[in-house]
Amino acid sequence: MVIGLGRFGTALALELARRGSEVLAIDHRPKIVQALAGQLTHVVTADATDLQALRELGVAEFHRAVVAIGGDLEASILTTSLLTELEVDDIWAKAVTHQHKRILERIGAHHIVLPESDMGERVAHLVSGRMLDYIEVDENFALVKTHPPRDIVGVPLGDTRLRSRHGVTVVSVKSVGEQFTYATADTVLQYGDVILVAGTIAEAERFAERR
Ligand code: ADP
Repeated sequence: MVIGLGRFGTALALELARRGSEVLAIDHRPKIVQALAGQLTHVVTADATDLQALRELGVAEFHRAVVAIGGDLEASILTTSLLTELEVDDIWAKAVTHQHKRILERIGAHHIVLPESDMGERVAHLVSGRMLDYIEVDENFALVKTHPPRDIVGVPLGDTRLRSRHGVTVVSVKSVGEQFTYATADTVLQYGDVILVAGTIAEAERFAERR
């Protein structure tokens, strides 16, 4: 179930449907619901802060719900707490600020996403470095997409002592015009290859700065 069909909720609901999930999408604006009716099988107009309305929609039977209401703090908090009351197993909620996130955690949301802050932080890594992409997979661990620095080109990865020298591991490699494949100790990188490097945030970033 996806509640709130703004830009975030709509993209989420459409992608879930595209991937074959049964999705019930809810918004209190009839115009939005009408606009999406041709693209989603189950899309209804309802006020998610109304317990009775949620009951009538059979919300308690859903395993997973995403509260994608951002701007209206009151509606976001109230909806999330109703879902907890209805004992939905897995509640995801979108937060707009870190304070919002803390409130949603306290009232029982199981997962919180902060799309704008997270994306801002991610873009900061991209614009200030040479990375092609950057994903923080844990508090202090990242996966970086970059080009190999000069000193590891032409040498089997096993001989580069990357882990002891830089604390990072090359996980995958993509040569020009080919697909990504696993890197092994025998992999020899070329200029122009794209590599995925895993390591602590500091070490992965430092490695990606090398030329
Ligand atoms: P985005 O930034 O992703 O566009 P918004 O917070 O602007 O997100 O959009 C939230 C959506 O949630 C809007 O379409 C709004 O109509 C809907 N919404 C807000 N309050 C409720 C509510 N009480 N019940 C159902 N939908 C709601």
